[in-house]
Amino acid sequence: MHIRKHHAAYILFAAAAALSFPRSAAEPLCAAAPNPAAPASPEAASAAFPSPVSDGYAPQEAAVGLIVLFSAAASPEECSALLASLPRAEIQWHENSAALIRVPFRSASGTLGLLCASSCVSAADYDGEIEMASISEDAYSNAQWGLNNTGSYSFISDMNTSTILSVPDIDMNIPEAWASYPALVTSPREVVVAVIDTGVDVNHPDLAGNIWINQGEIPGDGIDNDNNGFVDDIYGWDFYNGDNTVCHYDADGIHTLLADSDDHGSHVAGIIGAVKDNGVGIAGVASCADIKIMVLKIHGGKNGSGTISNAVRAIRYATAMNADICNISWGTSKENRALEQAIRESDMLFVAAAGNSGGNNDKAPVYPANYPLDNVLSVTFIDASGRMSAKSNYGSSTVDIAAPGVHIFSTCVGGYVSLSGSSMAAPHAAGVAALLYSCGRYQYPANIKDLLLSTAKPIAALEGKVRCAGIPDAAAALGTISALRYDYYAPTLTFTPGFDRENLLLTVNAADKGGSGVRTIRYAPGVRELSSFRRGTAETAVIPGSPIVLTKAGKYTFYVSDYAGNERIVVYQLADDLLAPSASLSYQVAFTRKSMTVQVEAFDTQSGLRLVQYAEGAHDASYFRSGEAGKAVAMKDGKGSFTVTREGNYTVYLSDYRGNKAVQTIEVRVIPSVSMTLNASKKTLTVGKTFELLPVLSPDSSTDKLKFTSSSPAVCRVSAAGVVTALAPGKAVITVKTASGIEKKCTITVKTR
Ligand code: CA
Ligand code: CA
Repeated sequence: MHIRKHHAAYILFAAAAALSFPRSAAEPLCAAAPNPAAPASPEAASAAFPSPVSDGYAPQEAAVGLIVLFSAAASPEECSALLASLPRAEIQWHENSAALIRVPFRSASGTLGLLCASSCVSAADYDGEIEMASISEDAYSNAQWGLNNTGSYSFISDMNTSTILSVPDIDMNIPEAWASYPALVTSPREVVVAVIDTGVDVNHPDLAGNIWINQGEIPGDGIDNDNNGFVDDIYGWDFYNGDNTVCHYDADGIHTLLADSDDHGSHVAGIIGAVKDNGVGIAGVASCADIKIMVLKIHGGKNGSGTISNAVRAIRYATAMNADICNISWGTSKENRALEQAIRESDMLFVAAAGNSGGNNDKAPVYPANYPLDNVLSVTFIDASGRMSAKSNYGSSTVDIAAPGVHIFSTCVGGYVSLSGSSMAAPHAAGVAALLYSCGRYQYPANIKDLLLSTAKPIAALEGKVRCAGIPDAAAALGTISALRYDYYAPTLTFTPGFDRENLLLTVNAADKGGSGVRTIRYAPGVRELSSFRRGTAETAVIPGSPIVLTKAGKYTFYVSDYAGNERIVVYQLADDLLAPSASLSYQVAFTRKSMTVQVEAFDTQSGLRLVQYAEGAHDASYFRSGEAGKAVAMKDGKGSFTVTREGNYTVYLSDYRGNKAVQTIEVRVIPSVSMTLNASKKTLTVGKTFELLPVLSPDSSTDKLKFTSSSPAVCRVSAAGVVTALAPGKAVITVKTASGIEKKCTITVKTR
């Protein structure tokens, strides 16, 4: 079996591997030779075993024991010759008509086939462990120290399973949780955990029963039946290869292709949800619940490498398909805003491996584990004695918790394998989270995370190393069922329309109602169904409080959701600016009567004035050809003017930024006055006082300008508007004159006080 090497930027967090065991450990003995039907595990190509990655847990090439019973007709020499002819076989013992041989895992099924085909052999099969008392009816449950640690556990890396001493009770109290589960969880519901990883062996006997099935999709019809953008996505999707092949088997349908192993994801899947009590293999942490694994393959190739873009797509897929939890057993040192946003906009709880570099994540961040989001739980790993390994990442403010992660025995493609690393710790924690989620709908990640941390089993060696110095305690967590929070209410939306010149603006705000928090707001033009928003992963995102700029009025559908899975759509009718601008016009005739100035005061209450023009004559709006035909009126703060020299009609054209148009016409005429009266012909003032001369012209409509002059400006002066100010004792005559030649006088006598 190959081992994945760490990819520089993007790595899977399983640090060590031992070889897998044949799936067919429980196959019946083969019948007397010759038997053309080989055991179910065909032999994989014998692969060179790569150097182990240095995690402190050296992998060993797995070997398996094969027990051989010779037929009565076979001579001892024939039997010895047969055993000697077997490639890479080590004879453990050979006595009378039986032998035990040890062969590498990869040759085991082939060797078994050779034995069964030999006329010397009456029966041959895999050797096996005789079970001790165990936590479940699964063959290798004694290897699952993370679930129940009695002070020793089986480390299965070769045929001679070794027993490793450990510290009792360094475990997640899983048997206790399983025992209390039926009484505590009275109406359990299905929980979906998205495993974004390599592929997963969905046909593995220990996994098949707990693999998520897309109920909206008809397998193999080449049609995207559920219209989610993925054709025949039955178990999830393979983003690495761009198809629905979530596990890559070889031609015999059992072993993974070396170029594209799906062991890592299969291992993660088994830790969370391997089928319990089926007599084979192991049991997943959450196997007492209705657990389903959604398979999203983003890693492939020799190095198990993947891309952030595919991770983002997988997260959006899982969110759209309503998964509850997302297991992330990989990471990158590169911060990525798209990845962070995809996580923030998802209502899944992301259980993320903290890394296997032994580094301090407070100083050297690992993403996505390090994103400071309420729905991210960062998990490092410990061994069965409660110790961090030299490769366990830590961080008193960035790593939330630890979980079992050394010598973890779980499923791989066509078998089982022991792996170590934070890749194995994350699914342990995810499994406990799944137990809580199974208590009912409308829970939310922040609360589940809080409960996992607050009920953790203390581990002394983690003090000061992680935020919560412990590992998840499934029994204690289930004991807090009454503290689980539920949010049944979708957020509400408020809309504030506005204008920005030619654009319409709409500011949208959401208010949380129920406590889980607003997750995402999106919109689409027109009237849409809830489904078109794909649980908040489709259509255009809205930033609350920041105006959306729209060009068209009409109906828009808005979507809002929270972290407990509640969703709401609201159809909003966005009104356009339908009010044309208006203006008030007036004019003044110059004293010379040779020019007239038209004053324009214009208003637009919505989108705003775009253009003010004028033209000689009376016209309707079309005359101005949207501003091509008129002359500009310079406007400032809604006021402007233009000067003309001919009497007659003038039309002012106004348009706003949303295309509304208006015209207003004014008749400009010079009307001479024929007579004038003054409010006084003489007046006595004391120094410092003022007096306003009020000439009245006839006719009323006269456009004449008036000119005021003082015969003695040192005695009193007069303003252009006729206000007389007494300055010094004496007399002065104020003359008022019209352009048409009428003149009136007023004598002012100024006295001292
Ligand atoms: Ca589909
Ligand atoms: Ca099992």
